[in-house]
Amino acid sequence: MYDSFKRNINYLRISVTDRCNLRCTYCMPEEGIPLLHHKNILSFEEIESFVKHAASRGITKVRITGGEPLVRKGIATLVEMIAKIPGIEDLSMTTNGILLPKYASALKRAGLMRVNISLDTLDPQRFREISRIGELQDVLDGINAAVNAGLAPVKLNCVVKKSRLEPDAVLVARFAQERNLSVRFIREMNLENGTFYEVEGGEGGKCSTCNRLRLTASGDLKPCLFDISAFNIRTLGNEKALSEALKNKPACGTLNSKGKFYTIGG
Ligand code: SAM
Ligand code: SF4
Repeated sequence: MYDSFKRNINYLRISVTDRCNLRCTYCMPEEGIPLLHHKNILSFEEIESFVKHAASRGITKVRITGGEPLVRKGIATLVEMIAKIPGIEDLSMTTNGILLPKYASALKRAGLMRVNISLDTLDPQRFREISRIGELQDVLDGINAAVNAGLAPVKLNCVVKKSRLEPDAVLVARFAQERNLSVRFIREMNLENGTFYEVEGGEGGKCSTCNRLRLTASGDLKPCLFDISAFNIRTLGNEKALSEALKNKPACGTLNSKGKFYTIGG
């Protein structure tokens, strides 16, 4: 499936919830966010139906994200539904890791192949400052659970202010090396004022080769993280929403005045 700039679009990121069990300073306000009403959140069947359609047109890679995807009730069932769809060759998840000790084995059994776990520091005090309410040890336990369950390769996502040479990032790099895990360093972005960067060690942010579409928990199909346009799969239907998103994917996004990472999932 090609967009109007001849990019092969084969990667869909699905945000399954706006909710989160952390409040990372760069992502959410301390008091949390106004929650979506249950009826405005796509059901598993709606997500499955869209992924089936997208797969029939060339999507082969799916990543489940959020908010925090592991706080969505029954998430392993959704993983199982997506894993069974013909054409889906790569199924992954981005998570803060807190609930992985509870769910890693079930997710693996359901067909999840691999996880990216967010880890910005190895200093417990700093972790509390950044996440406002989290415990570093829970994430470390989550990383162990993912490795033990075989959700491989486990990759780390580390948000930095400016560079990977900052003290927190250096700690993460050292930990990753010791544990033989790879890290993607993501410079803190601001969708609303158009501050965005390429991801170091990953594919994100390279407009000329961008192969992604994003589906939000409320059904907005977004052609670009840094663009306001969205095509709702409930109002337009799967086929039209996908065609419109493809047609309207910009060469390179500029800003997304209403964009939130917890809605779009990064
Ligand atoms: N809750 C999960 C997690 O934290 O991994 C998944 C959703 S989170 C929005 C996805 C990714 O976006 C995380 O790796 C997070 O660090 C990153 N992220 C959130 N806000 C960001 C920002 N302002 N700039 C850059 N990355 C950000
Ligand atoms: Fe939650 Fe992930 Fe946002 Fe942190 S980055 S507040 S863990 S959604």
